[in-house]
Amino acid sequence: MASHIVGYPRMGPKRELKFALESFWDKKSSAEDLQKVATELRASIWKQMAGAGIKYIPSNTFSYYDQVLDTATMLGAVPPRYNYGGGEIGFDVYFSMARGNASVPAMEMTKWFDTNYHFIVPELGPEVKFSYASHKAVNEYKEAKELGVDTVPVLVGPVSFLLQSKPAKGVEKSFPLLSLLDKILPIYKEVIAELKAAGASWIQFDEPTLVLDLESHQLDAFTKAYAELESSLSGLNVLVETYFADVPAGAFKTLTTLKGVTAFGFDLVRGTKTIELIKGEYPSGKYLFAGVVDGRNIWANDLSASLSTLQSLEGIVGKDKLVVSTSCSLLHTAVDLVNEPKLDKEIKSWLAFAAQKVVEVDALAKALAGQKNEEIFSANAAALASRKSSPRVNNEAVQKAAAALKGSEHRRATTVSARLDAQQKKLNLPILPTTTIGSFPQTIELRRVRREYKANKISEDDYIKAIKEEISKVVKLQEELDIDVLVHGEPERNDMVEYFGEQLSGFAFTANGWVQSYGSRCVKPPIIYGDVSRPKPMTVFWSTAAQSFTKRPMKGMLTGPVTILNWSFVRNDQPRFETCYQIALAIKDEVEDLEKAGITVIQIDEAALREGLPLRKAEHAFYLDWAVHSFRITNTGVQDTTQIHTHMCYSNFNDIIHSIINMDADVITIENSRSDEKLLSVFREGVKYGAGIGPGVYDIHSPRIPSTEEIADRINKMLAVLDTNILWVNPDCGLKTRKYGEVKPALQNMVEAAKVIRTQL
Ligand code: GLN
Ligand code: ZN
Repeated sequence: MASHIVGYPRMGPKRELKFALESFWDKKSSAEDLQKVATELRASIWKQMAGAGIKYIPSNTFSYYDQVLDTATMLGAVPPRYNYGGGEIGFDVYFSMARGNASVPAMEMTKWFDTNYHFIVPELGPEVKFSYASHKAVNEYKEAKELGVDTVPVLVGPVSFLLQSKPAKGVEKSFPLLSLLDKILPIYKEVIAELKAAGASWIQFDEPTLVLDLESHQLDAFTKAYAELESSLSGLNVLVETYFADVPAGAFKTLTTLKGVTAFGFDLVRGTKTIELIKGEYPSGKYLFAGVVDGRNIWANDLSASLSTLQSLEGIVGKDKLVVSTSCSLLHTAVDLVNEPKLDKEIKSWLAFAAQKVVEVDALAKALAGQKNEEIFSANAAALASRKSSPRVNNEAVQKAAAALKGSEHRRATTVSARLDAQQKKLNLPILPTTTIGSFPQTIELRRVRREYKANKISEDDYIKAIKEEISKVVKLQEELDIDVLVHGEPERNDMVEYFGEQLSGFAFTANGWVQSYGSRCVKPPIIYGDVSRPKPMTVFWSTAAQSFTKRPMKGMLTGPVTILNWSFVRNDQPRFETCYQIALAIKDEVEDLEKAGITVIQIDEAALREGLPLRKAEHAFYLDWAVHSFRITNTGVQDTTQIHTHMCYSNFNDIIHSIINMDADVITIENSRSDEKLLSVFREGVKYGAGIGPGVYDIHSPRIPSTEEIADRINKMLAVLDTNILWVNPDCGLKTRKYGEVKPALQNMVEAAKVIRTQL
């Protein structure tokens, strides 16, 4: 019985690649140094999988930046602005595309399906001259072979590549990207021929777009592409891999009738309906790569449940055609539990990171082949049983309270206009009130104080003193700048989710559980393992301290339930909405405690609301319903005079505008730096609804200081669409990544612009 891994994390168990990349970019080390680190990482991954007994080991899943960029490079699809002159593409052009250089900006980056991984979006058009410009796939195959590991080279499939691309600048938006198939397939053929010549016997094409809502002409492109590749592929075993959701019935039909393909890979963790399709009809003689080990999460597999799933599939496709696999690339999970010596033993027994998942896949394959390792299976069963019954997981009171929320209505009693009137009587704000989104610059000194307090190197008293001093400085600065609604600056927070997770029960934190977000950037999501509750107030101490330094309104600053959920590893033993409701109840208690403590404006950030949107349209309404409901639960209990703000980072709001309105916040601030027409429709809806709206007036991602005129110009453009009495003036997002030297003049110009326009109204 065979085993397979779809893909593996590249960063290394201790983010070795990140540090090597950043040192190379900073010119502190050479290209050879970087290549050496990369070669060692690849070798250790291949050897680890081979040692674990995996039969089909992937190659070319390593990347210096991103696998879609690697594919664009393979095809020579370099936008003209990077001055690519032909030949094998080197680091220079490659990293310029990824990150930009002194004279040219980077290519656009966007989220890879519904993961937190971001890929570089290829820019294509009729003018692009494709050429075979990177031999990386073949080189990696050979490199592994020299180490004695015969791998399955992995390529992003031609159709998914085109469907994830966008028309280049100057090319019409309606340009049919799929019309480029004829131009890229000849290059795929060259790659295939070289791989064959190097000795490859298998090849894997990742075609995850097959799980999306596709139109029939898009499905036809798959049929056409693989028919075209069929003769080149002859003699090879060809796996087309899908992941992240079930494959819709139509796509399943297309997929399983592709010419030249001998194996199909499915995500059977998220794709629960796919099993039914397989049971309904599966082409005889074709391999089934059954993704039963979750690549998107950190939980140990339920080995005995997976084994019975696999046994039922074996009855359909035959013993020699079933391959045990992961649900998707392990890129989206943490790397190795071995590096978590401080993690609680019991919790650790419930987890599996990438390295442990490889072992699970192998154990399942062996068990199917009649060589069940009883030790592994019984340890797994014991761990699952302990997780199920652990008092650390279960909190009956929380479960009851959360269960009662489903299907119930939570909405503030009065309309937003009535509330804003009541609030204005109390707050007495000028028109075009100014505010910021929450964080102020996080200086090295500040990070040191937090680190030393965590490590018990400074006393609690000293820590409180230092943070209070910082808050008072931030308050003073805002008063000098004459900002209307102040923030405390979030100096006590490392991260907007971690800060709350650390104070809520049901959360665990890792030391090295990093997951690649983009390029060298990694995130370390908290693990929600149990019922969530709030043992005591989390922000009241700092917010009241901040309020005591000023007579102006001080915003209480909270992270919303949906964002906490979407930026964590979430338990898989109950539906996501249940966990979200539990978090909502905890945040609700915090909101009410802030109100009691005299805080009159409370911002509940939902930066990641849109991120949780399911891949398929049919599932959107259900998600948005419980997500928005969770947000409302946090603040239905407050008085009319308490003003609830929410903030959202840049995303495509068009299709979720009604849900945003349905959140029923009093004021919504949103990122607007890439100011485009799309957001205008959001604003227009906002006018009808009556809530305050603060589309960011300047980009905080750039060190550039916007002038007063520029900001005034932006505000005037917004006023052309929005009523004066609902518009707020604020930056795009939090200021924590900026320096004071940038923040002070930028905010000064922002306040000045608001004042100038006020006099003109
Ligand atoms: N309040 C947070 C901050 O200012 C919001 C950050 C975000 O939206 N990502 O840092
Ligand atoms: Zn933001």
